[in-house]
Amino acid sequence: MITAVLPTYARIDLEFERGEGCWLVTTDGRRFLDFTAGIAVNVLGHAHPYLVKALEGQAEKLWHISNLFRIPGGERLAQRLCDATFADTMFFTNSGAEALECAIKMARKYHYANGEPEKNEIIAFKGAFHGRTLATIAAGGNAAYMAGFEPNLPGFAHVPFGDIEAVRAAVTLRTGAILLEPVQGEGGVRVAPPGFLKALRDLCDEKGLLLVLDEVQCGVGRTGKLFAHEWEGVTPDIMAVAKGIGGGFPMGACLATEEAAKGMTLGTHGSTYGGNPLAMAVGNAVLDLVLEDNFLVHVNAVSAHLHKALHALVERYPSVLQEVRGKGLLVGLKLKVPVGDMVTALRAEGLLAPAASDNVLRLLPPLVVSTEEVDLAAEKIGAACQYLEAVAARQGKAAAPEGAA
Ligand SMILES: *Cc1c(COP(=O)(O)O)cnc(C)c1O
Repeated sequence: MITAVLPTYARIDLEFERGEGCWLVTTDGRRFLDFTAGIAVNVLGHAHPYLVKALEGQAEKLWHISNLFRIPGGERLAQRLCDATFADTMFFTNSGAEALECAIKMARKYHYANGEPEKNEIIAFKGAFHGRTLATIAAGGNAAYMAGFEPNLPGFAHVPFGDIEAVRAAVTLRTGAILLEPVQGEGGVRVAPPGFLKALRDLCDEKGLLLVLDEVQCGVGRTGKLFAHEWEGVTPDIMAVAKGIGGGFPMGACLATEEAAKGMTLGTHGSTYGGNPLAMAVGNAVLDLVLEDNFLVHVNAVSAHLHKALHALVERYPSVLQEVRGKGLLVGLKLKVPVGDMVTALRAEGLLAPAASDNVLRLLPPLVVSTEEVDLAAEKIGAACQYLEAVAARQGKAAAPEGAA
């Protein structure tokens, strides 16, 4: 019999009652160190008092009024995000996929507004993930996510991530934009090679294309800059954000330059919930803390500590771990054992971390994680490696026939 909740997730059988910072506590009192953080969402950890206060304060006043009226918290948040980024304007959404939908619509509309409606194709990348709506599965290009949901939305081409020559070769007269994650998250924590974003920016400028970044996972301080593209010294024309931006309250945004947004005139896009007062109150509170002087200093220091510990583990357990990937606190461990076994072994040690494609374990702690918590996580990963190494050795012995060379 089907479960009352549509069974599209293989859910881990844990029931959490509450969270405290980087820790989750089950209903039966077990404590887990949370390096999943709701999949890179809870940037300030769980139940941060400042966010709780912001949410409660707003909840007592006004939850929702729709976008038929002014929402001062949204005007304020948008202005602050414009001040902190390349953007001149933005549209608030409730999720990452919706932020991408807005970005895709905006890119198409830009060329339409320029009198070049044929420039409606977007070059995206193999290994990308942009969400699970019909447009975003087409943008992601992952066959497994599209199978059975045909007809696929047309207008996307996919080339190897990091291959500027392949991008150049894929540009046609119908190309309107290039869409990518500066660090591919779900695809296996793959950082764009140095210079790639700059080369794409130059190509876009040369050909009159829009550079659209998906910073849903890598944005909001996750890589140690407010947005990951800042590491490369380039700016996009359009950028989708979500995940961390609400700290756990469902929200997202599509940011853009005035030029890129010029087709998005009155009545061209909308959302009933997007940017509602509750979301905006929490979004402003998240930004208060993320923009504090020392916030990113902490992210960079603690992530350097984590990367160092992980490199030591790769040296120590070469039969289990292959390499460390990622930037800041968007970290991947490429494994030589099945990632599912590692996720299970870590859970037994009391550490929660999600898998990504390409047999990669992701480590996505709240950005407020302490060095002590990082040390503890490294200890748990070491213990899981030791266990998996022993299991592999036993299996190797069992598999090798008597007297085999
Ligand atoms: C999670 C994610 C999305 C989709 O966000 P949802 O909120 O699940 O719709 C899009 N792009 C990237 C890079 C993501 O990591």
